[in-house]
Amino acid sequence: MSYQSVEEAYARCRKDGIEFWKAIQLEDMDENGITEEDSWRRMKGMWQAMLDGIAAYEPDEMSASGLVGKEGGLMEAYQKKGDTLCGDFMAKVMTNALKMGCNNACMKRIVAAPTAGACGVLPAVLVTYYQEYQVPEEKMIEAMYVAAGIGQIIANRAYLAGASGGCQAEIGSGSGMAAAAICYVRGGALEQLGDACAMALKNLMGLVCDPVGGLVEVPCVKRNVGGAVNALAAADMALAGIVSQIPVDQTIDAMKEVGDKMDVSLRETGYGGVANTPVAAEVVKRLGLTL
Ligand code: SF4
Repeated sequence: MSYQSVEEAYARCRKDGIEFWKAIQLEDMDENGITEEDSWRRMKGMWQAMLDGIAAYEPDEMSASGLVGKEGGLMEAYQKKGDTLCGDFMAKVMTNALKMGCNNACMKRIVAAPTAGACGVLPAVLVTYYQEYQVPEEKMIEAMYVAAGIGQIIANRAYLAGASGGCQAEIGSGSGMAAAAICYVRGGALEQLGDACAMALKNLMGLVCDPVGGLVEVPCVKRNVGGAVNALAAADMALAGIVSQIPVDQTIDAMKEVGDKMDVSLRETGYGGVANTPVAAEVVKRLGLTL
């Protein structure tokens, strides 16, 4: 039985004198009846798939609908001019988030962590950091465990699907996972991982799921950028010593409450939010979609 709360995982870390990622790996081994080597190999495989996914992006490829595809290439060209508002590292993070979001829309291989729609958040944060700062790969795979553990706890206490809890459950959870993971990479203390996650989740709480035409393209691809940038901001706040006044487990519970109260039109049906705009109606008509 995987951890039901971040606090429960913390308790094991404190009792056994282990790091958060190790507590998650031990649980993975117990739950799936696999060895340490097998668990590591699987996680490394997912990490490699993220690296490969970013490399496989093709700027000239468009999704079948024609709505998205070029954004990763446009952002990369802009970043390379060296004059972005957000700075070079953040521009690369944004580029990679867009590349992975476009890859998903173009049916390329992605790692659904936590979901296909939010597949760009974690690699944008982790892969970009890895490539920029030459961190040992082992550290990044440990960070993947941190992210996976947080994602599992969110799944246990709330949900990860936009159809269940809105985009806060997808991009929001991805952002919380990435915030905790990058906080770990940067040497954050145990409790700071949860604080980073909580702050990322709170910043995106209430985010609705409103895909135009029911396609995981608009606003999904660009929302991965929001999730990634938010994760870095939340991690930086935690590393600065800023605490989340609402503990992470209670924040996850609050996200569930908000999701439960969310109207069905805002939970992946394509009936509300930006999916319910005149331009969205034109897209649905042009593509002959039925919702
Ligand atoms: S808007 Fe909906 S489908 Fe798109 S990423 Fe968010 S949760 Fe997923």
